Amino acid sequence: MVLNCKSKNILLLVLLAIAIETGWSSEEESSIISRFQQYLKINTAQPTPRYHEAADFLISQGKALSLESQSIEFVAGKPLVLLKWEGSNPNLPSILLYSHTDVVPSEHSKWTHHPFSAHLDSSGRIFSRGSQDMKCVGMQYLEALRLLKSHNFRPLRSLYLAFSPDEEIGGHDGAEKFADSSIFQSMNVGVVLDEGLASPDPHYRSFYAERSPWWLVIKAFGVPGHGAKLYDNSAMENLFKSIESIRRFRSSQFDLIKAGFKAEGDVVSVNMVFLKAGTPSPTGFVMNLQPSEAEAGFDIRVPPTADPESLERRIAEEWAPSSRNMSFTLGQFKQKAHTRDKSGKPILTKTDSSNPWWALLENAVQKAGGKLGKPEVFPAATDSRYFRERGLPAIGFSPMANTPVLLHDHNEFLHKDEYLKGIKIYESIIKVYASLDDNGRDGASKDEL
Ligand SMILES: [Zn+2]
Repeated sequence: MVLNCKSKNILLLVLLAIAIETGWSSEEESSIISRFQQYLKINTAQPTPRYHEAADFLISQGKALSLESQSIEFVAGKPLVLLKWEGSNPNLPSILLYSHTDVVPSEHSKWTHHPFSAHLDSSGRIFSRGSQDMKCVGMQYLEALRLLKSHNFRPLRSLYLAFSPDEEIGGHDGAEKFADSSIFQSMNVGVVLDEGLASPDPHYRSFYAERSPWWLVIKAFGVPGHGAKLYDNSAMENLFKSIESIRRFRSSQFDLIKAGFKAEGDVVSVNMVFLKAGTPSPTGFVMNLQPSEAEAGFDIRVPPTADPESLERRIAEEWAPSSRNMSFTLGQFKQKAHTRDKSGKPILTKTDSSNPWWALLENAVQKAGGKLGKPEVFPAATDSRYFRERGLPAIGFSPMANTPVLLHDHNEFLHKDEYLKGIKIYESIIKVYASLDDNGRDGASKDEL
C-alpha cells in the first residue's frame, strides 16, 4: 500500500481493502452462484453426457476471462477444454488445475429436486448432480482466476485449466489420452490439482495417493451330483470355502478401520459384487442338482502401501487355489491397476519436505482461513493416477468442509457459503503456486511483506 498519497486516496484504498476482506457484494455473489448453476444445469451424466454444451459454456467462460481457450477431441465427441493463462516466465514448470466434466447418472424420482435443476433452497444449499463431484471445483478455479485478475495479479508460472471427459467411466478417452499427448508434454506441468472429497468436519481433506481397483472373478469347478447327496469337492462347496476365507480377510481389514488404527484408504477392501451358479429351469433353478461350476466376483481396492505380490499370493494360495479346483481372473472387466511405478516404487505424491507443493498448499489454505486435515489415500480411483504414474505430484483437494459426503448419492448438494469460501481458498493456493520462482521462493508472500 502506498502511504505517501493524499488522504482521499488513502480512504479509497482502505474502503477497497475492506471490500476485498469482506468478500463480494450481494450482486457479485449472485452472479457467481448463477454461473455455477449454469454449469450444473448442463446434463453431463454418463452414459450420454452433453459434452459439447459443457465445452461451449466453459470456452465462453474462458474467453470472458481473456484466457487462451481450446477444445481438444482425443476421441471424437469427447472434448477436453484447455484454458491457459500464460505466466511471465513460461519456461518454469506450469500449474495444472484439473477437473472432469462428466457426472454419474441419478435416479430422478429419489431426489427432492430435479438433479439438473441446480435448485438453491432457502437455507443456501445448491442441489445438483455434480455439485460435489466435481463441477464445483471446475467453476471455483475459474472464479479464483476472475478474482486474481480483478486484483491485477500476474502469474510467474503459466496456469492451465483442463476440463476433461469420461472420468466416471475410467478416464481412458479423457485423462489417459491427455496425459499421453504431445500437448500435455508441451505444457511442462510441474504440479496437478485434482478432486478430493467433502469433509463433514471443519477440516478440508487432501489426498496424496489412491487405491487401485483389482476386479477379481473366481470360479470353482466340481463333480455335479444329486441335490440329496453329501460329498466332497462340489463346485459350491469349493467356492464357499473361498468366500469364507475372503470374508475373514475383509473383517480383519475392516477391524483396523473400526479400531481407528487405519483410515479407509489405507486398508485393502474386498466386497463381493456377484454370485453366479445354478442350473436354470423355466421356473427359476433346478433344485435337486448340485452344479458343476460356480463363480463369484469381487471389487478389491489396493492402497499403494500394500504389498501387491503378497496379495497375489494370497489369491492364488488361499482364495482360489488350484488344489481346490479353482481358477481366477484378475481384471476380467478392467485392467488390474498398478500400485507401483516402473521402478517398483509405490505410486504416490510425497507429503514431506521433498515436495514443496504440499507445504505451500497447507500454508495457502491456512492463509485463507481454512484448515487441512491429515493427508489421506483416496479410497476410490480418480484421474490423478494418470499424472502420478508419470511421476508428477498430484494433489486431490475439493474445498468442502462441514459438508456430508454425497458424491454419487441422491440429493447431492453443496452449500453456497462453502462454495464461495472454496473460491477464496483456491485464490490463495493459485497465487502462491503461480508465484513460486525457480529457487523455490514463494513470490506471493514476498510481495506482501
Ligand atoms: Zn469425480
